[in-house]
Amino acid sequence: MRASILSIGDELVLGQTLDTNTQWIARQLAAVGCDIGEHRTVGDDQRSIEIAIQEISPRCNFLFISGGLGPTDDDLTRQAVAKVAGVNLQLSQEWLDKMIAFFAARKRPMVDRNRIQAMLPTGCTMLDNPNGTACGFSCSLPAADCTLFCMPGVPKEMKPMFTEHVLPAIRKASGGAVILQRTLHTFGAGESQVAEMLGDLMDRKRNPSVGTTVSNNVVSLRINARAPSPDEGENAMRQTIDACRDKLGELIYGTDDDSLASAVAKLLTNGAETTDSRSIVQTVTTAESCTGGLIAKYLTDIPGSSAYFKQGFIVYSNQAKTDRLGVSENIIHVHGAVSEPVVIAMAKHARRLTRSDYALAVSGIAGPDGGSAAKPVGTVCVGLAHLPNLRQPGFRNADREEEVFAVARTFNFPGDRDMVRDRAAKMALAMLRYRLLGVPMPF
Ligand code: ATP
Repeated sequence: MRASILSIGDELVLGQTLDTNTQWIARQLAAVGCDIGEHRTVGDDQRSIEIAIQEISPRCNFLFISGGLGPTDDDLTRQAVAKVAGVNLQLSQEWLDKMIAFFAARKRPMVDRNRIQAMLPTGCTMLDNPNGTACGFSCSLPAADCTLFCMPGVPKEMKPMFTEHVLPAIRKASGGAVILQRTLHTFGAGESQVAEMLGDLMDRKRNPSVGTTVSNNVVSLRINARAPSPDEGENAMRQTIDACRDKLGELIYGTDDDSLASAVAKLLTNGAETTDSRSIVQTVTTAESCTGGLIAKYLTDIPGSSAYFKQGFIVYSNQAKTDRLGVSENIIHVHGAVSEPVVIAMAKHARRLTRSDYALAVSGIAGPDGGSAAKPVGTVCVGLAHLPNLRQPGFRNADREEEVFAVARTFNFPGDRDMVRDRAAKMALAMLRYRLLGVPMPF
């Protein structure tokens, strides 16, 4: 089954309104196993709508059209469909009566202009709209072996119509077929590196298919499984996810709505859904310079974060690093504020001051100014301090500096200020995640 989506409206073409209908319809269709061939948007022009229908309909079994069913002169979908189907518009007494009742119920007069909304292409099936005056309709274009579903553009009217009247027909035609979608997230390796590691799992003809996307410094794998039934889809999906995990290992930090911070939170709380006094929860503190509290924000985005997040220091100036954390002026003077010795000192002091199990520290040059030949914009040092053997009793409340384990890494991140800061915060979380997993960072 192949479907296409056509949205109609000058406001969409001009970029004044974001076409959310197409995204929503496409997602609904994928869930019932419908392949989407094309999305198209045209303005309120009858000829453009006709051409779009003529061009798209031979290439799909279903064409979903939203918009252009209103009462004004620029609502021309019904006329365009009738023209392409080679039929006239005919009064639907059923819809006229419903419209009269719709206005009467709201004690508003129905103006003559609304009558056009009861004019439908001859031979079509009317689709009810309890939320507005534009009914939808479906009709087939036999010449193209394509069924058209025309729906109003207003999302609040289109969605219930689609769910109640359109989706059941598609489900029936699909015979239970599904397209399942899952997303796996990775951080740290570039998109091409991830693709290289996945090898022939990314073969374009493969089902389930595996593709990569990048957003906010996270490389995600989008897996789509087309299957004749939900069970077969789930099975194929599971096998492909396992195969991706075999190839990428711990580079995958989560699925779908997971974030790096939620992956860290799970490890700190031992995966406990709720954290009561009996569960072993490890705690973390942050000491941030160039990220200005972003790591703390990510950690506290997670509900229940008070269980493991102790405190966040934003020590932007050198003086704050000294006054608030006790980093020695000498270390800053000798190595510079963006250096591994400084982030190690920041992490160690922050951990000790808050008596937390772990502390993360970041200092870097986010730009656009402040770079030098030795430390260009994008240079970021990340430090991590923690007590060893945390899970052994006796170490939990230890505060002996000689027991503290600390590491630091220097990175050079590309991109603008936002990208550098986001990458720095995520790298700090990734560093903690690998430490909690007990495996070395693979990048
Ligand atoms: P109605 O008679 O209920 O207005 P209609 O079919 O004439 O239905 P349009 O006039 O095309 O609908 O659109 C009405 C409003 O719905 C638009 O101004 C816009 O705010 C919203 N809308 C239309 N199409 C879309 C779309 N594809 N995505 C999101 N919003 C849309």
